[in-house]
Amino acid sequence: MKIGFIGLGNMGAPMAKNLANAGHEVSGFDVTAPMPDGVSGAESGAEAARDADVVITMLPDGAILRRVADEVIPAMKPGAVLLDCSTVDVESARAVADQAEAAGLGALDAPVSGGIGGAEAGTLTFMVGGSDAAFATAAPLFEIMGQKAVHCGPSGNGQAAKICNNMILGVTMIGTCEAFALADKLGLDRQAMFDVVSTSSGYSWTMNVYCPAPGIGPKSPADNDYKPGFAAELMLKDLRLSQQAAEAADADTPMGQRAAELYAEFVESEDGRGRDFSAMLPRFEGRGRG
Ligand code: NAD
Repeated sequence: MKIGFIGLGNMGAPMAKNLANAGHEVSGFDVTAPMPDGVSGAESGAEAARDADVVITMLPDGAILRRVADEVIPAMKPGAVLLDCSTVDVESARAVADQAEAAGLGALDAPVSGGIGGAEAGTLTFMVGGSDAAFATAAPLFEIMGQKAVHCGPSGNGQAAKICNNMILGVTMIGTCEAFALADKLGLDRQAMFDVVSTSSGYSWTMNVYCPAPGIGPKSPADNDYKPGFAAELMLKDLRLSQQAAEAADADTPMGQRAAELYAEFVESEDGRGRDFSAMLPRFEGRGRG
């Protein structure tokens, strides 16, 4: 296929490289990042999009996606698919999809989980919203860039799945960290706490797979001085998107709201920026109730 790829940062660059390595013709554009091996550089987003069968975007947020879509959609050939893999607000995802479909294009929102490691290894999970026809066009590309693609329904549902998942993740990480900090103060050994919780009803991905306590459980960013992994500011971005969506849909999400507040404090007023999101444990460790 001919692919236009716009946004070649931490995630986009390895994804585009994997597509080029698999034999696709990839034309890339980024405002600052260099072109990865095998990707030819275009002068603009519109140039990268022209003649492409699929145009992939991997951008920082919804406002930038809307601007790029305004430029790129008129340049795309009829029947081509605009595949946005960024994590953005549900409203922007639906607005861009409507705009693309009105111009005779297919549109998919397909945010990912798996991080930079998953992008490099081609093992991302895609959560996809959009039509069956557009999903079928993009399916071979999902297979190259990822290990799983779940079709979640119409446009916007990929973003909805992503923010619901990450709201659970943020809330359970905080719960796991505060429980470890309480256990410390009660004189309960961390290994004993892990051995009990990881095989009891408090178990979770954050305890069993990504344990925030150094030296406990499988290897995780806690064992590497809390270098990300998944940075606290990216968790904050996703929690804010979940609360923006909850506000728009009139959904009561008190735990998600509190998690967003705690990550905001951690990133904006404490030392959380640039640290893994599991560094909430040393944060709680150093605090009392007051
Ligand atoms: P990044 O900042 O490294 O990359 C974004 C790229 O977009 C940058 O290179 C930037 O120059 C480029 N860009 C900005 N405006 C542009 C424009 N108008 N035209 C062309 N290029 C433009 O971010 P990232 O880590 O690659 O993340 C990309 C998206 O993936 C985000 O939405 C993020 O939330 C999501 N995501 C990231 C991770 C992760 O672990 N990094 C995991 C899952 C999802």
